[in-house]
Amino acid sequence: MSSIFDQIKAHPHQALALYRQACPSLKQSGECWQGHCPFPDHEDRNPSFTVYADGRFNCFGCQRHGSIIDLQQLLYGGTTMEAAHQVAEAMGLAQSIGSKPANKKEWIAEPFGSVSERPKGFDKASGHWCYHNAAGAPMVLKLRFDEDGQKRFEPWTWCRHSQTGAHQWRKQDGPAPRDLYDRHRLPKEPGGTVVIVEGEKTVEAARLLLPELTITTLPNGASSVAQTDLTHI
Ligand SMILES: [Zn+2]
Repeated sequence: MSSIFDQIKAHPHQALALYRQACPSLKQSGECWQGHCPFPDHEDRNPSFTVYADGRFNCFGCQRHGSIIDLQQLLYGGTTMEAAHQVAEAMGLAQSIGSKPANKKEWIAEPFGSVSERPKGFDKASGHWCYHNAAGAPMVLKLRFDEDGQKRFEPWTWCRHSQTGAHQWRKQDGPAPRDLYDRHRLPKEPGGTVVIVEGEKTVEAARLLLPELTITTLPNGASSVAQTDLTHI
C-alpha cells in the first residue's frame, strides 16, 4: 500500500476541488488555475494564488507554496500527518489508506473568522483578545473577567466534531505548542528583535509607546514558556 502522501499526490483532480473550497475565486488560466489568495495578511486584488496541474500551489504575493497538505496545515494548523489525514478524508481516499488517526471522536479547532456567534460569557467579559495562527487565521479567543477585584482569563476555541461535523465554542486552549499573541505579525524569518511582555494589555500599551518594535506576549503568562512555540523567533 502506498503512503498517504503518495495517494494524495496521485489525485491532483480531487486536490483541485479542495483548493476551490479554500479559494472560491479560482479560475482556469491555461495549464493552471488562479484566484485571490486565501490568506488575509496581504492585499491580493490581482489574483496571485496559483494552482498547477501537478497539484501544487504558489502565491506570488506572500510566497506561500507547497502541496494541498501544506495548504491545509497553513490554514488550520496541526501536524503534517494530521493535515494529510484531513485532506485524504476530504478527498475520499481514507478507505484506501487504512488506519487513520483522524477517525478518533474529538473536537478539532477551526478558525472563527466567519463565525458570528460568540462564546458563553462574552458580553460579561471586561476584555477579549484574539490569538491568530501563522497564516493570520483567528484560532483562540481569550476573555478577561474582573470579579471581586480579581482578574480571570478563559480561552475559547471554535471546534468541529470529527465525526458529526457539529460546531461549537469550547472553553479550551489551542493545542500545544501554542502561538504567541499576534503570531502573524511577528517576523517571518528568525533574527529580528521581538519584545515579549506580560499580558495582552501590556502589548497594546507598549505598541503605542514603541511602534517601531515587534511586541508580543505568551498565551498563558510567563509560566507557559514550555507550551509555547518559540521556534520562529
Ligand atoms: Zn498569498
